[in-house]
Amino acid sequence: MIPVIALVGRPNVGKSTLFNQLTRSRDALVADYPGLTRDRKYGDGKAGEHEFIVIDTGGISGDEQGIDEHMARQSLLAIEEADAVLFLVDGRHGLNPADEMIANHLRRSEKPVFLVVNKTDGINEDIALADFYALGMGELYPLAAAHGKGVRSLIDTVMELF
Ligand code: GDP
Ligand code: MG
Repeated sequence: MIPVIALVGRPNVGKSTLFNQLTRSRDALVADYPGLTRDRKYGDGKAGEHEFIVIDTGGISGDEQGIDEHMARQSLLAIEEADAVLFLVDGRHGLNPADEMIANHLRRSEKPVFLVVNKTDGINEDIALADFYALGMGELYPLAAAHGKGVRSLIDTVMELF
């Protein structure tokens, strides 16, 4: 069985950047515009000797209307399909109300969730992480997806489940 890992989080936290790191493709739409990826996108993930399927999603903003609502639905479907969820948050922006909404949903889903604090490059990691313990999702995994930093150890930890 190849595990399925979903990337979930509000728009602009770096999901597509991580997707590209894991799949080494340029296929997922990465942009400086929040929420440009509108559908679920599947890729063949590799990290070291680990192989898995990774799902990129458009993100959940917490204020769903129109296209946002469609994106949120895609994210919920991705969570249902997943064997594990990487919940990405933005270490530069701190805790956001949408993060809390997503955390509540993930708790109800009963999937294994890894809370990933992205964009920790060039900032104080301890300070970046501090905010997010309040989500009560256990251990935090610092990441700098744009630089591939933290990716390998994160995936090593996730793959211990399978
Ligand atoms: P998504 O909406 O969650 O898919 O986010 P994207 O992957 O499209 O990234 C949103 C923005 O964050 C882009 O400008 C990325 O270059 C930037 N970004 C992603 N990962 C990192 C990171 O590790 N560090 C920094 N500084 N910026 C990042
Ligand atoms: Mg994206």
